[in-house]
Amino acid sequence: MEQAAIRAGARQWARRALDLLLPPQCLACDRQVAEPGRLCPRCFGQIDLIGNPLCAICGLPFEFAGAPERICGACAADPPPFTRARAAARYGDRIRDALLGFKHGDRADRAVGLARLVARAGQPWLAHADMVTGVPLHPRRLLHRRYNQATLVADLLARDAGVPGVPDLMLRTRATRTQGGLSGAGRRRNLRGAFAVNPAHKGRVSGAHVVLVDDVITTGATVTECARVLKRAGAAEITVLGIARVVRTGHATHIQSI
Ligand SMILES: [Zn+2]
Ligand SMILES: [Zn+2]
Repeated sequence: MEQAAIRAGARQWARRALDLLLPPQCLACDRQVAEPGRLCPRCFGQIDLIGNPLCAICGLPFEFAGAPERICGACAADPPPFTRARAAARYGDRIRDALLGFKHGDRADRAVGLARLVARAGQPWLAHADMVTGVPLHPRRLLHRRYNQATLVADLLARDAGVPGVPDLMLRTRATRTQGGLSGAGRRRNLRGAFAVNPAHKGRVSGAHVVLVDDVITTGATVTECARVLKRAGAAEITVLGIARVVRTGHATHIQSI
């Protein structure tokens, strides 16, 4: 027992010594920062955080302020299956760098910083959620990437909000071709039947407020399909949170779906 305590103490000391040798790096570049999981001032200045005014449902940023509960034309014409979607930042170079290091590098510590950005966007709803989960990757892709960054961020958000994290709430029931190069309708077709609620958790979803986390919301086809499946399983409220979201400049208010 005592030996185990000594060993644990030694390990902790070794980790602290290593932290001193390897100063924390910026989320998006190699610059040194004071605390792990932070952005350096230069990268922070280049990240376009999404704030008001935005569509109360899909979170699409509006160019001009208006009524607080205003919704965009696409949501008015064809309401999505989720209650609301928010993303921390517009997808751009610095966010891309942070996500690339996160996906393919060894810097899972970035998850902490990215989760902090997402928590900022999802704060009003995280505390009232019944569970937090991530968009599932197909097992084959998970093997290639080693971890699912959406689930990793989801678990951190759940822990900080004090609500259950259920990483295997949803299952990817079949592999899909990559979405790049597909139109919005093509993406939706590609994803039909690709997700299911894990039978082990089916009873938990009915009447629940589920927070669903994705890394980059491009057209919104993936989160829309997942939300449709959750709604079919009886979810009462679905909040989608993304690390980043693609906003096409110039026609921001005319995107058909997120
Ligand atoms: Zn930086
Ligand atoms: Zn909208």
